[in-house]
Amino acid sequence: MKFGGVSVADGAKFRKVGSIVQRYVSRGDQVAVVTSAMHSVTNTLTDAATQASRKKRDYVKKAADDLAERHRKAAEDSIEDKEIRARTLESLSATCEDLKNVLLGIAHIGELTPRSRDYVLGFGERLSAPLLAGVLEDLGLKARAFTGGEVGIVTDDDYGSAQPLMNVTTLQVRQALEPLMEDGVTPVISGFIAQTQEGIQTTMGRGGSDFTASIVGASIRCDEVWVWKDVDGLMTANPKLVKNARFIDSISFAEAMELAHFGAEVIHPKALECAARYQLPFRVKSIADPDRQGSSIVSEAKVKDGDVVKAITNINDVDLITVSGASMVGTPRLPAKVLQILTDEAIDVLMISQSSSEESITLAIPKEGGSKAQNALELSLLGSKQVREVSMEAGLSIVAVVGAGMRGTPGVAARVFTTMAREGINIRAIAQGSSELNISFIIKRKDTERAIQALHDDFKLGG
Ligand code: ASP
Ligand code: MG
Repeated sequence: MKFGGVSVADGAKFRKVGSIVQRYVSRGDQVAVVTSAMHSVTNTLTDAATQASRKKRDYVKKAADDLAERHRKAAEDSIEDKEIRARTLESLSATCEDLKNVLLGIAHIGELTPRSRDYVLGFGERLSAPLLAGVLEDLGLKARAFTGGEVGIVTDDDYGSAQPLMNVTTLQVRQALEPLMEDGVTPVISGFIAQTQEGIQTTMGRGGSDFTASIVGASIRCDEVWVWKDVDGLMTANPKLVKNARFIDSISFAEAMELAHFGAEVIHPKALECAARYQLPFRVKSIADPDRQGSSIVSEAKVKDGDVVKAITNINDVDLITVSGASMVGTPRLPAKVLQILTDEAIDVLMISQSSSEESITLAIPKEGGSKAQNALELSLLGSKQVREVSMEAGLSIVAVVGAGMRGTPGVAARVFTTMAREGINIRAIAQGSSELNISFIIKRKDTERAIQALHDDFKLGG
């Protein structure tokens, strides 16, 4: 079971999470728990690390004190037993002391390496896991907290987005957890963090706690990985945009990955990839309504008749960059060059489309990256004679229509674009992957809601 930051945002929520775990353990299930840092703590740590590198001593001291206070309060609000509470508070305060020293150390020399940054970022999970273990003990369970490294997750040393070495990891995690769980102990594991073979702490990328859940699940060969959410499960569209959006009972890993890439941040794509590789069934469960089955994510998508589209999703606020010039025709290296330039600038490309006349390449970029992308492309390409112009258009969004049933079903694209034409919505660019799992297109930001609602109605996704 994995719990995210929103689910452990304060003492009352820790208690709620504890009672959910208790419910299944007392039913006779063996449960391994993975937790994120408390809500927004990793952001605070990121910020503190940056301020430390600028030698802002007072700032980081205050940040460390605030975090200590927040965790102290959460523990006091969620653990009743005096002895367990005192023990937990002591462990939290020792970890917070360590955090403060590290931040002041960084502020002293004014240097932040990727390695020390990962050390700082991991403090959120190093605090939340012992706190949750304390709550479980308070509820009468036998529980024990582990960091990712302690439980045996080893990665390479690509700090910030370290990759687990799965062969060693699965073996070590199983050896660490199985005997313990046989003894009735509920392990509580820090998500997001792991360590190198030399024992140096790493992080596996923002949102990486989901990934930890997959890794642990694959290691102990669990029956299912349950990701608990404050939303009720995966939905056919964002319920804030579409009133009659429905729950999806069952979806394939490939479809869920498409949804994740297109802004429905329900489960981290790396976690899905890992789960798919180890054939690990996933389930998204609702904290507010644990009796509900939730959405299950499985290897094979069940495609019901006429059920070609599973969900409509969107990314708001994208910029469209178009690189054009007649002499791009037949210059195969140019697309590679364009992408390389953007990679060097660490700009994420959300969508690419190239016209078959090869006169232009169009790229969708998150809003923050638009001008930077345009500048970098102009600087490198305008002298090259192949390229005439690099233009940018802002205020757009991507809409993606996702579903495994689209594969080999003719006419889906026609239906999508007919619907848009009927609504009078102009389409600026289109892309479809050869997997045929999604059709995505770019429209004006202000048309997004209308487009999604119309498609949702047209494909009869509503309840
Ligand atoms: N705490 C980490 C983050 O905020 C990992 C996670 O929450 O999954 O990115
Ligand atoms: Mg998350």
